[in-house]
Amino acid sequence: MTPDERVYAYSAVLMGSPILLKLFEHNETLASNVFRLIKLQENKLTVNRQQSEVMSVNHAAGNHAVAVSKPVFDLISRAKAVSVQENSSFNFTIGPLVKRWKIGFSGNTVPAATDLQALLKITDPHDVILDEGTQSVFLHKTGMEIDLGAIAKGYIADVVRDFLLEQQVTQALINLGGNVQTLGAGAEGAWAIGLKKPFSDPESLIGVINVTNKSVVTSGIYERYFELDGQRYHHILDPKTGYPLDNELLSVTIISDDSIDGDIYTTLLYGMGVKKSLRYLQNVPHIEAVFVTKDQQIICSSQRQFTFTPLDTEYHITG
Ligand code: ADP
Ligand code: MG
Ligand code: MG
Repeated sequence: MTPDERVYAYSAVLMGSPILLKLFEHNETLASNVFRLIKLQENKLTVNRQQSEVMSVNHAAGNHAVAVSKPVFDLISRAKAVSVQENSSFNFTIGPLVKRWKIGFSGNTVPAATDLQALLKITDPHDVILDEGTQSVFLHKTGMEIDLGAIAKGYIADVVRDFLLEQQVTQALINLGGNVQTLGAGAEGAWAIGLKKPFSDPESLIGVINVTNKSVVTSGIYERYFELDGQRYHHILDPKTGYPLDNELLSVTIISDDSIDGDIYTTLLYGMGVKKSLRYLQNVPHIEAVFVTKDQQIICSSQRQFTFTPLDTEYHITG
């Protein structure tokens, strides 16, 4: 048996993304339990359907507080803490803007500037009132909407990892569409996580990130976007302007233990750009990053937790 033949891959489509689970045993039951767990989490956190725990909070905006389950309360608390940081480009109350743009969904439009100005008034994370005692969440202003899109996949990837560990699984990989969490090593040593070539066919890679027991999360402007009049509009919005974040970056990849950190930091660092991010990361040793820029540079932060192998001569490693 070659090393690769020991790996069993299971796939599904959940949360609007292709999901891939790799195990080192043939175990359909375990795979379907993992997919069921993901669905369960999605049902609590989604804002793409009328009913979920998060939607019950949104429906009560400007009206009353809603009690949620402990894990959802903790996730919302974490999202608020990151969102209220000074100059944070992560804002989990960005829902009204996301719904207005509909980027990645049918009917996407470029909203009028006056519309965006109006919606920005109901996207202040300070207006989310949390009560520990009753585990309840109150959105202070009518029309406010929580959107956990920038943190949910990371959180769920960690839930899957913890479940697999409980099942005594020591080697596995879960990919929730750009959000990878790994247990142990792969078939031939470290896991090899491909970094997609921006705006190219899905098979083309600009490099490979090798990790063991780590999460690898990528957020890029080439994932969900639409074009109108020669202008490209992608799905990571600037909470200050209401328009898609615009800087030198094509993508940010975060390598960390927990995938929730990866998901948070991709969005957070996206807004900072390369220079500020590299400085910022010097004080956050457990978070490492790979940046890809529009002028085809690849910049790695410190590399204690991963190695990077370039694969495309059009992209150059700098920094
Ligand atoms: P993906 O995993 O799809 O690449 P991200 O983790 O970068 O996405 O999160 C993007 C999603 O988060 C968007 O689809 C939207 O729902 C929401 N979002 C967009 N802009 C922001 C922002 N500035 N802060 C927090 N959430 C955002
Ligand atoms: Mg994400
Ligand atoms: Mg994110």
